[in-house]
Amino acid sequence: MRCPFCSCVDTRVIDSRLVGEGDQIRRRRECTECKERFTSYESAELNYPRIIKSDNRREQFNEVKLRSGIMRALEKRPVEMDRVELAVSRVSHKLRAAGEREVKARKLGDWVMEELRTIDQVAYVRFASVYHSFEDVRAFLEEIERLEHVLPPEIKKDQLDLLPGDNDSESKKS
Ligand SMILES: [Zn+2]
Repeated sequence: MRCPFCSCVDTRVIDSRLVGEGDQIRRRRECTECKERFTSYESAELNYPRIIKSDNRREQFNEVKLRSGIMRALEKRPVEMDRVELAVSRVSHKLRAAGEREVKARKLGDWVMEELRTIDQVAYVRFASVYHSFEDVRAFLEEIERLEHVLPPEIKKDQLDLLPGDNDSESKKS
């Protein structure tokens, strides 16, 4: 890195440390020529693809919007914020890992649904109903029915029950 004082190209790193939560590195440098010291910061450049809306408009991906969408589905549900943050970071990661310059909003929605499905059935159904805009009650019920069958048992166990009382009948049996 070029020295900002004398423009000499040879500078020496005398100290580096992680900043904040470790997503940035702070380096203390010294110019070999004029001996002035300065600080540089290094962080990863995160390139998110743009989101293609259903009407073909393109939009910058917005993590705040993603989080609030997930939160809306989870409103008044007994789910910890840590779990929400995990879902947000997993979806964001998938988006970057896709390696595309543009990703359909539909795809993004599918990833959110995958996350919600493992967190909370009520939130999942809420999100799905808005997202797929179920045309009638039957389609809605079919989706719930489908859920019951597609979920692997280990996920079902972790998930909060959709219908209150499910657990009661379970415990009576055992
Ligand atoms: Zn210098």
